Parts: sequence; structure tokens; C-alpha cells
Amino acid sequence: MLIPEKAIKDAVYQLFDAVDVLSVQGYDEERRVIYWNLGSELLYGYTEKEALGKKLEDIIFPEHMRQFVVSAHKDWLEQGIKIPAAEITLCNKSGDDVSVFSSHVLFTNEYNKHEMYCIDINLAEVRQAQAQAKFKENMLEAVFEATPDRFFLIEEDGTIIDYHAGDNKDLYAAPKEFIGKTIKDLFPDKVARKFKVYNTKAMSHGGGASFEYELTMPNGVSYFEARLSHLKAFKQVVIIVRDITEQHKAAEKIRQHAYFDSLTLLPNRFLSLDRLTQMIEEAKRNREKVALLFLDLDDFKKVNDSLGHEVGDKLLIEASNRLTLALRKADTVGRLGGDEFIVLLRALVNDRDAIEIAEHLLKIFREPFQIDGKELILTLSIGIVTYPENGNSTSDLLRNADAAMYQSKLLGRNTYSFFTKKMNDIMLRRFEIEGQMSHALENNEFEVYYQPKIDVKNGRVIGAEALLRWRNPTLGNVTPDEFIPIAEHTGLIVPIGKYVVEQALKFLNEWRNVHQRNYTMAVNLSPRQFRDKELISFIKKSLSEEGIKPDSLEFEITEGILMIGNSYIDDALDEIHKLGVKLSMDDFGTGYSSLSYLRQYSFDILKIDRSFINGITLEKEDFDLVKATIAMAHSLDLLVVAEGVETHEQLTLLGELGCDLIQGYYFSQPIPANEMLNFRFTANH
Ligand code: C2E
Ligand code: MG
Ligand code: MG
Repeated sequence: MLIPEKAIKDAVYQLFDAVDVLSVQGYDEERRVIYWNLGSELLYGYTEKEALGKKLEDIIFPEHMRQFVVSAHKDWLEQGIKIPAAEITLCNKSGDDVSVFSSHVLFTNEYNKHEMYCIDINLAEVRQAQAQAKFKENMLEAVFEATPDRFFLIEEDGTIIDYHAGDNKDLYAAPKEFIGKTIKDLFPDKVARKFKVYNTKAMSHGGGASFEYELTMPNGVSYFEARLSHLKAFKQVVIIVRDITEQHKAAEKIRQHAYFDSLTLLPNRFLSLDRLTQMIEEAKRNREKVALLFLDLDDFKKVNDSLGHEVGDKLLIEASNRLTLALRKADTVGRLGGDEFIVLLRALVNDRDAIEIAEHLLKIFREPFQIDGKELILTLSIGIVTYPENGNSTSDLLRNADAAMYQSKLLGRNTYSFFTKKMNDIMLRRFEIEGQMSHALENNEFEVYYQPKIDVKNGRVIGAEALLRWRNPTLGNVTPDEFIPIAEHTGLIVPIGKYVVEQALKFLNEWRNVHQRNYTMAVNLSPRQFRDKELISFIKKSLSEEGIKPDSLEFEITEGILMIGNSYIDDALDEIHKLGVKLSMDDFGTGYSSLSYLRQYSFDILKIDRSFINGITLEKEDFDLVKATIAMAHSLDLLVVAEGVETHEQLTLLGELGCDLIQGYYFSQPIPANEMLNFRFTANH
């Protein structure tokens, strides 16, 4: 049975009526709307009622396309030229663009009239998705452009399918050279192997992997970090490569800083000692002998103090270079700090080898250094220890080498010493004294003794020298000759020295009151005390507290202090002099260029050293020297004191030579304050 056309049409209409995802419109030969489904309503905004009877070109076509659609429709009706399906942009009731994919059919109805049906699929979502995809693509491009990282997209087999490099400078190769090739084709073997390993790793771990590699580029070696990410669904791997050369350099700098001395570029203390530890381990395994040389530059502080730190630094650099050049490659020279260096000698045959190297180092330091057009002489004191003879551990060897170096200093510097057991004892004693001395002041272990000074002419006591005594519960009595240098070294001499000044002035006050005599008091000052910025104000304060006039106080200093040649010492001496306190040159004759110093500084008193007084009645040389010294001192208007006078003959002779004051066991040893208060010289002379 034939179904009438009208019935079919009704069925199709019914089908489309309720469809909302497709717009189906029907038009008669005049392009008037004869059918308008729900989809059309939704897409174009016209209800069926509004649309029916309206012309196609009047409702959904934008102005500029109207003419075109009219003639295309006409061509179809009259000449059978089909309007092809196409993507077109129409407009809705509000005039907004509507993108559709439009297909068209032409029917002939029961009245032999044409009806055109348009089926439009809304492309808005597709367009949106396309736009989004485009946007993402652009964004990615921009990201590639803006980031310094390089991006590779590779197949799982390593073939490069895409490559982006933002800034095109410093590339290992141009992007086009990469595409289609494999990592193996392009990179050096070592790098390609790494890529392969991590590629496999990224794929098997179902995620990422990262590694670092280096490449030799036209301007040096560059370092890179590669991060791999497996795109499982696409069987591809994304690789992001970052140039980390700068970080690498920074890390290297930090490493350099941690292990090397920034001034001399030698291994620092940490690295030197680490190498020593390694060397001991190796020597243990191989049953070898190794040596450690502990070097200390002689009087380096003097260079720093008198010529400034800049010259000091240059000298340290030059000295380091000399040391490095003098040694074998396998040996290590390191800077322990300040002016201390360490030399590690491997695989020694015997002690002689170490001695030869020490002698060689001393020799190369004999040549003066040229710094800023100045010639500077710098000598070394060296301490030598060997493993296994002088210690089993890094710390033992270092300590013993230090002790041996100290021995070289005691021997007059510019020499080397081999470590001996005795040095160890000396060092231990030194450490013990240092340790005990740190609490000595607060424990009241110090006491100031006084040794009277007598006027040769009338035998009367005119004053005293304050001499410090230390009684320690553990060490017993320690002599000033032993503890004063250590106190100077540790700096403890500063508070201890102040204590002596206070005690001595307090005693002087009491002594004067009891005896009603205008006594003077001499106090010894160490070089280190001049570095104390409060020295002068402290002296002033101490004097005024005891109500003592400055000219009743004398400071005894040795020549050594003047040889340091530093301006702060000159300034302090000047201020002491201006204050009215007397200056006395102690131990005269034991140093060298004494005369010039006497003239240069405002000394008031000269003390001839005990060693000359001792020989004055026995050796003509000593006699002559004392005689000349007294004459010279008087010509400079200085008062002369002879120290260490023990016999009547010495006293008589000194009297004949015109010496002014005498100090020594002949009159009295240094005695405690209460004894001094009762002291009356009774010897018959
Ligand atoms: P100095 O200033 O040259 O002191 C003289 C030293 O000779 C004292 O030794 C004294 O006891 C000793 N002496 C004095 N008369 C005779 C004598 O007739 N025969 C012999 N054989 N010796 C005599 P002392 O007290 O052991 O002091 C040694 C050095 O220690 C002093 O030499 C001085 O340089 C230093 N010293 C002592 N007390 C102090 C102090 O309070 N401060 C500082 N900075 N140094 C001090
Ligand atoms: Mg003295
Ligand atoms: Mg003296």
C-alpha cells in the first residue's frame, strides 16, 4: 500500500517537532516558512508562530547574504543547481551571529510545488572548542617563546617530533636540525645514553624522571637539567630542558668557599685537615710514612700592623704561591688560618726527606718579596711531625707539629724543628698554664710584690718596682718569665696588667702615708696592653682614685715594643708622656738599636739589664758597655737604674760610674706589700 506523501510528511514533521538539537526549517517556493521545529526556535529565537509565513532571507540571514540566498534558491528551483551543505554564519532574532552547518533538501509536494528543507546543526560548541584549542596553541607558543627552557616532544623510540627553543641564542643546534632525528643522532654518546636510561625510567614509572647533563658549547661547557614526562596515551615523551649553568657556577662557588681559602685559594683548614685524615688512612693501608709540616710566618703581625692589611694580604698570596710552586703535585699545602700553613708530604722514605723539604722552604723564603715596590723579608718557622712516629690521629699530629713549630720560634725563628717528646711536655705545660690562668684573677691567685729602688748617693729607698707573683693551687708558683708571655699571647695580660696598676698605686698611697716619703712606683707594661683602647683613661682614673700625681708613676717597657713600629704604640707613649707619667726603658742592652729609640721617644729612665751588671766586675766588655751606657744616658738627660745588683762590688763600681739608682738582691728581693712597708735598708755601705 502506498502511503500518501502528506502522511509521510506529517510523520517526519512529528519526528522533528520535538527535536531540539537540530534546527529543521521548511520553505515554500517563495521561501516563506512553512515548517519550524523546536530546534529552530531554540537556535534562532523565533517561535513557530513568529516564523511561519516569514521569508527565509528576512529572518535568519544577515543583510549582506540576502541577495545571495535568494538567487541561489532561485537557481536551484529553476536550473536544479543544488545549494551545497556548508558552514555558514546566520543570525538569530536578536541579531547575534549563529554558526551552523547547514544542509538542504528540495522536495516536490503533492501540489507539485517545491519545498526546501534546511537542517542546521549548531556549531557554537564546536566553534568554542576550536577557539579554545587555538587559544591553547597560542598560549603554548607564547610559553615556549617566553621561557628559556627548551621543549622536546619525542616518540617512545627517541625520534624527535617537535622541538621549541624560546630564545634562539646559544642553542646546541637549530630546531629544524632536530625534527625527525633521534637524540642519539644529535647528542654525544654519553648524553644520549643518559637520555635513554631516563626515558626508559619515565616510561616504566608511568610518570616523570629528571637528570642533569653537560654539553660542550661554543663558549664553554654548559650544564642542563632535563625533566621527562611520559604521555602514555600518545606514546610520546615531553622533555623540558633547562640551562642550569648559572646555578652550577653558584654551587661551585659555594663549594669553593667552603673548602678553599678565599684569599690565597689554597685548601682551607677544613679541607686541609680532611686531606690529612685521608692521607693517614692511606698511609695506614699502604704502611707508608707521611709528614706534616706546620708553618708559621715570622712576625707577620708586624707587617699587618705597620704596613696595613692590604700589604699583609698581598704578602700572604705571594707566600702561598711560593709554597705551592716549591712542592710536588701530590703534596698538599693549605692555609690553616691567619699566617699559619700546613704542608702534607706523601709517601716519604725517611725523615731526611721531610727535613730537605723544610730546608728548601726556608731557602726559597730567603729571597725578598716584592710588594707594591717594596722589598719585604718574610721568614718561616716550621714544625715537622711524621706518621706513624709522632701520632696516630689528625689532631695528635697537628698538635705536635704546632709544638715543634713553637720550638722553632723559641730557637729564634726562621728555622725548623722536629717534634720531640720534650716539646710535647712544654706544650702541655703551656696549655695547662693557659687553662689555669683563665680563672686566676677571679680566684685571687695573683699578688704584687715590690722590689725597692735605692739612690746610690745616699742609700735611701726612693721607690719600688711592682713585680707580679702567681700562686696556683695546681701548678704552684709560676714565674713571670713563664706566665707573662702566655698571658700576652692569650690577651689576659690586659686585665692582669690593670690589676697590677691598681694594686701598685693603692700600695704606693699607703706606703707614702705610713713613711711620709715621696716614693715612686714602677710598673711593667707589655706590648699587648697598648692595644687596649682604654689604657690611657684607665691610668688617669687609677691615679686620681689614689690621689697620686702622675710623675710618681713609671712605666717600664722593653725595646721590643718600639720595634713593632706601630702608630698606636707611638700615640699611647705620647699620651702617657703628656699625662706626666714617666717612661722607663727596661732591660736595656738586650735588644739592638737602642740608642735611636732613646732619642726618638720621651724616655725619662734607662734600666741597664741584669746580664751586664752581672758581668761588670768580671768582664771588661760588660764594664765598658755599662760605663758607656751611663755616660750616654746622662747626656740624654736620663736617669740610670742598674737592675740585678747582687754584690757590694757591683754597687761600688756602679756608684763610681755615676749610676743613679740601684735595684737588686743586694738590697732586697721583690717582697710582699706588708714587708715592703717595714723595709729599711740596713746594710753598711
Ligand atoms: P723585669 O721587669 O726586668 O724585672 C726584673 C726581674 O729581675 C724580676 O724578675 C726580678 O725579680 C729580677 N731581679 C731583680 N733583682 C735581681 C737580682 O739581683 N738578681 C736576679 N737574679 N734577679 C733579680 P721577675 O719578678 O721574675 O720578673 C721577670 C719579668 O717578668 C720582669 O722583668 C718583667 O719583664 C716581667 N714582669 C713581672 N711582673 C710584671 C707585670 O706586672 N707586668 C708585666 N707586663 N710584666 C711583668
Ligand atoms: Mg721591669
Ligand atoms: Mg728588667
